[in-house]
Amino acid sequence: MSGTYSFFQGVERNFDKAAVYTRFEKGILEQIKACNSVYRMKFPVRIGDNVEVIEAYRVQHSHHKLPCKGGIRYSMDVNQDEVMALAALMTYKCAIVNVPFGGAKGGIKIDPKKYTPFELEKITRRYATELVKKNFIGAGIDVPAPDYGTGAREMSWIADTFATLNPGDINALGCVTGKPVSQGGVTGRTEATGLGIFYGVREVVNVADDMKKVGLTPGIEGKRVVVQGLGNVGYHAAKFFAEAGAILVGLAEFEGGIYSEKGLNLEDVMAHRKSTGSILGFPGATDIKNNADTLEVDCDILIPAALEAVITGENAPRIKAKIIGEGANGPLTPDADAVLNAKGVIVVPDMYLNAGGVTVSYFEWLKNLSHVRFGRLDKRFSENQNASILNSFESMIGKKLGDAERRQIMHGPDEVDLVYSGLEDTMIGS
Ligand code: GLU
Repeated sequence: MSGTYSFFQGVERNFDKAAVYTRFEKGILEQIKACNSVYRMKFPVRIGDNVEVIEAYRVQHSHHKLPCKGGIRYSMDVNQDEVMALAALMTYKCAIVNVPFGGAKGGIKIDPKKYTPFELEKITRRYATELVKKNFIGAGIDVPAPDYGTGAREMSWIADTFATLNPGDINALGCVTGKPVSQGGVTGRTEATGLGIFYGVREVVNVADDMKKVGLTPGIEGKRVVVQGLGNVGYHAAKFFAEAGAILVGLAEFEGGIYSEKGLNLEDVMAHRKSTGSILGFPGATDIKNNADTLEVDCDILIPAALEAVITGENAPRIKAKIIGEGANGPLTPDADAVLNAKGVIVVPDMYLNAGGVTVSYFEWLKNLSHVRFGRLDKRFSENQNASILNSFESMIGKKLGDAERRQIMHGPDEVDLVYSGLEDTMIGS
């Protein structure tokens, strides 16, 4: 909830604002906005000596294109309204990047940190079984993926449960994306959302006129960046900003935040958190007791990459960033948007900025459905054709390959895997 409206109502408000600029009749707009199917379930799982009744959801917002697509989150904040809002955002996100899926989302109301991997596996497999029972999962029906609190491990449990309950389904692997590379996943999926966030913000920061308006020089180099959330999305976004020469002045996790004008070394912060259990107390940095206060520190670019509604009408007036990149889904409420727009802050919206994840999920799904072995250049093509494939690939990944890399790809022995990270699973199959 934010103010007097819920997360889903907030998404609807934004929809209504945009809908004014379309020519669709009211009924059609109502249908686009509505959540088509909401599956709320409760199932028992024995944890130690007790039976726990677990609450979970899968919402299919739109069936206009099938399958439906969207992540599954594990968090104590999961509730029907949240899952509906996140499912709706998936529909709009897929439409913006022209990935042919309807939107969906799932959630299990648990704190994953409280369970052992064995217990998490039991919960995940039971959830996947519930989805199979109600026909809420399948390569042509609904395809989950990771989200807050889940990752490749959970996706492999889901894929295995689905395949076990659907013997003979040759497309079983395509029932879920974000799987480990060894089990039908694709390289690059893990970092895709963070890299997309970096690319999206880089585009904005390179527009000299817009930068002038907010009093900044164009380019990422030297920009002071704050990232909230060091999960898969926030960590990778921070990593790509730092690699491009930005200064990570602030980082926040649920236990609090840290700030250093001189910049924080991301890998050192991660190592510190691993050994002490917290980012607080990082040598040379100032502790910020309340994670949310980190959003208000002085910086050029702010990336909220954790949960929704972290910037509201209440704290928006105190935000100092000139550019906000919505890494999470729905981190700004419509009230916050209004305040920040009036202040002239550039907000890059979630449904565009964090769409890198679902875009690469699409490639994973295609790989699973095509049953083609990805990973090597196609020997049926001439050298010139392969060279032009490499050129297109360079523009897709936004960087030039070195001569040695090109040579190895063009002339390397048949069975040598491509060494370039991200190449092997996106190249045309042979
Ligand atoms: N959970 C991610 C998102 O919010 C990824 C969804 C997917 O890959 O299907 O976009």
